[in-house]
Amino acid sequence: MPSQLAHRPVTPVALVGAGPGGIDLLTIRALRLIEAADVVIHDRLVSGDILALARAGAHVIAAGKQGFGPTTPQEAINALITGHALTGARVVRLKGGDPVLFGRLDEEIAALEAAGLPYEIVPGVTAASAAAAAIGQSLTQRGRNSGLRLLTGHDMQGFADHDWRALAHPGEVAALYMAKRAARFVQGRLMMHGAAPDTPVTLVENAARADERILATTLADWPTDLADAGLDGPALTFLGLAPREARARIPQTTPLTRQELA
Ligand code: SAH
Repeated sequence: MPSQLAHRPVTPVALVGAGPGGIDLLTIRALRLIEAADVVIHDRLVSGDILALARAGAHVIAAGKQGFGPTTPQEAINALITGHALTGARVVRLKGGDPVLFGRLDEEIAALEAAGLPYEIVPGVTAASAAAAAIGQSLTQRGRNSGLRLLTGHDMQGFADHDWRALAHPGEVAALYMAKRAARFVQGRLMMHGAAPDTPVTLVENAARADERILATTLADWPTDLADAGLDGPALTFLGLAPREARARIPQTTPLTRQELA
């Protein structure tokens, strides 16, 4: 006899971007999927406000990776996702920012494919977009940079290697994710390849959140200024971009809270 499961329409596992933190930067598609979910498996960067959108009775599971701290092994996360999905539950895998950037999405997709489970990807606002908005700057500009690099500060081998020579060119703009600890390493590589010591470096901590902070410095002062600032939240680092000067005089928009949205 065919099992009940076989008759139940299979809901694709949703691999969803939660945006940079603020609830009002969630897409409507993400919101609908979270509200309908039976199981929400989220990483560390997803804010409590967003998790509170899950219906009462939904199973909300933290399965995060922390830069250098405690982590859930990727295989265990994969098993959680496929295990719940195979029971017929509507599963949302919720990741900070956009799941297609630095989110180990391919490992999870491979596990879903191996289990024969359908999935969909829901894009989110990535940290670089939110951080650029915070400093009032465009990530590309005619005559300055016609391209943008999105880089990670560290990979599985340690500090990540990049095309330092290209990055050291004047006018080059790069958005560095997970780069707080890599400051001195990246500074050294860029200086070695001739980057100007006064190249602007800007960090945006907790971009698009109520506790957003901006640290504007230069390549020469970056590691010391960073150590002095004591940033402990997630931070996006821009190479080659300074906050727009007039920005300081513009009143900052405060992200909406869940209550204000309702
Ligand atoms: N998929 C995410 C990135 C995950 S990697 C995205 O698209 O944004 C995690 C890194 O993202 C953090 O170390 C930090 O560099 C950056 N990040 C995530 N959220 C951030 C935020 N609200 N403000 C600043 N940086 C953030």
